[in-house]
Amino acid sequence: MSDPNAKKILIAGDVRGNVQALYKRVASVNASAAGPFHALFCVGPFFAEASDGDAAAGSGDAAMDELRPYIDGTAVAPLPTYFVDALPAGRDLCRHPEGVVAPDITFLRSPGVRVVEGLRVASLPGHYNPMSFDDESKLAATAAAAEGEYTKQDVKALRTSLAAQGGGGVDLLLTSDWPRNVTAFSRDGKDSAGAASRASAAGSPASAELARELQPRYHVSGRSGGAFYAREPYRNAGHAGHATRFVGLGAVGNKEKTKWLHALALAPAETMPPSALALHPADTTASPYALPVPPPPPRGGANGAPGGGDGKRPFPGADASEFDHSALRWEDPRAKRARAAAAVDRRPLRGDVDKTVYVRNLNFRADEGAIGEFFGQCGALVDLRLGRDDQGRSRGYCHVSFETAEAAAKALELTDSSFFGRDITVAMAKSEEQRNAERDERLRNDRRRNRTDGAPPTGCWFCLSNEKDTHLVASIARESFVSMDKGGLVPDHCQVVPVEHAPSFAAMPVSAAEEVWLYIQSVRECLAAGGGGAPLENREPRDLVVFERHLSLRSKGGNHCHMNCVPVPRERAKKARKIFEQAAKRLNFEWTELTPKPSSALDLQTAIAEIAGDGEYYAVHLPDGAVLLRVIRPKEPHWMSFGREVLGHLLGCPERTSWQECMESEAAETARAEKFKASFEAHDAPARIAAEAE
Ligand SMILES: [Zn+2]
Repeated sequence: MSDPNAKKILIAGDVRGNVQALYKRVASVNASAAGPFHALFCVGPFFAEASDGDAAAGSGDAAMDELRPYIDGTAVAPLPTYFVDALPAGRDLCRHPEGVVAPDITFLRSPGVRVVEGLRVASLPGHYNPMSFDDESKLAATAAAAEGEYTKQDVKALRTSLAAQGGGGVDLLLTSDWPRNVTAFSRDGKDSAGAASRASAAGSPASAELARELQPRYHVSGRSGGAFYAREPYRNAGHAGHATRFVGLGAVGNKEKTKWLHALALAPAETMPPSALALHPADTTASPYALPVPPPPPRGGANGAPGGGDGKRPFPGADASEFDHSALRWEDPRAKRARAAAAVDRRPLRGDVDKTVYVRNLNFRADEGAIGEFFGQCGALVDLRLGRDDQGRSRGYCHVSFETAEAAAKALELTDSSFFGRDITVAMAKSEEQRNAERDERLRNDRRRNRTDGAPPTGCWFCLSNEKDTHLVASIARESFVSMDKGGLVPDHCQVVPVEHAPSFAAMPVSAAEEVWLYIQSVRECLAAGGGGAPLENREPRDLVVFERHLSLRSKGGNHCHMNCVPVPRERAKKARKIFEQAAKRLNFEWTELTPKPSSALDLQTAIAEIAGDGEYYAVHLPDGAVLLRVIRPKEPHWMSFGREVLGHLLGCPERTSWQECMESEAAETARAEKFKASFEAHDAPARIAAEAE
């Protein structure tokens, strides 16, 4: 899952004409540490339904006002936007055969599978009306098309589109309606208001059937009736591959503050090792669609749609023969990578260094053409080189060399100007000698740091280059590792640490954050199974509390993120929330709880960035996965040993608050690491995935 190929996307619920609220939030998240994102997908109705007055005037012109600037070209969508449910309200704006509504705003108007940003996206446009769906007459089809309701023919067309591409897996399935019964087998008791259960019961059987057939990795729907719901993953019946996750989103800008925007980092399945795809988290359930479909609740309203009310129709599993699950396959990732790598331009840059600028913080969508045009306003270009990775994707920086020094000077004035929705930074490029000198200086500093005794906070103790303490390392994956805490609160107190010297979880590259996240889940799983290395005698299952401190520590190259993982006996773990709340009270602050519970690494990164920006924070992950966050204001003094103090109290060992007091011999430390390693191995998904990707 820690795939550098991960595409970051945003998904949003019913827009219903609230384009301003949508784009305001999207632009801010996109510019945060969690961004940039590649695309935005909107499920649920995109246009405001015309009121009676509007309907008389045409088709809701007033309701289109917020979209108008994007159509006129006076505003630019912060991300390429795709939506699936447009009619009847958006009829006048959705006449383009390819669904183009405005630059970068697209109605996915025909049912099918298409590749968007490398992801295979299946979409069923429109919404469900049982009358239209079950009536296969021509008249019904005409009415359905006018109302934007999908029919059996549309579902068939989607199947055909997939078959025409040789079958294969689907990363993302977009349907406006919830799949009926998706909450079945879910153990998440958080649906106290019952909104998710209601949306599930009233959901579309066609949407459910598609999810069962296509087995997408993510299925996203709107029309949630006030619910935000991120279901635990479920296993797909008759198929040993990946699990599927369903996300139902609230309406954009809703007053109840139900979550309506959600971030996903998704590596295209075809770029992932099969073992990573087949990874099923501990909370994975059976497929909700393995059950016969229940009848829908009675619908009110004048149309009184009957909707499969006979309750006898077997779930469409009966015609499963239409879809051959053994045909699910992904293109060979190596071939694809090689193809992309061959296209990357590696010529040296032409031009003089004193006429060349270096541009950072570029939107990943900005290509050479757009950048050339933008800087062409300063004067004639000699050359331009966009930093691209081995797969040809932009790294967000470029060099532009100009014919004249005047042009370069003009380009410098463009620093902090907005380009593709991001504030770019323009600086003079550095000569090779300058770069070499700086690199030498860095190396010298690193060596100097390593020569000092590695006692924190002198030098970066968390950088692996500090070889002195590698005996504490219990597991290494691709971008992160697990190390036993030096002088831990308990013997198997450990830390998950990114290999790269990143200051915080929120600021880590998403691929590293995902691996760290997976490590935390794996440690949690290991402890729940009675592992962890201590206490080995009773092998009681234990819970996990994680805390992270992000202080900028301006010296020593800044903070190096480390997620402290502290095993806590079940009985005491129940008090974790209370004890952290009490500690906050004592220090006169209140935690901000991230709601809903973060369900992925990117989800957590985005939530932190929304509250703390790039600033300092303290985060506590409670045993149930809830995350408490505290933004740290400058000069607040008490944060260095806060987590240790509170947990020392919770564990009944306040004397272990200071790690210096808990130091052991190297032999004892090694024994501690070995013990942990032995019990963690069976749960060590990140290391397993890393080994298989070699
Ligand atoms: Zn470091």
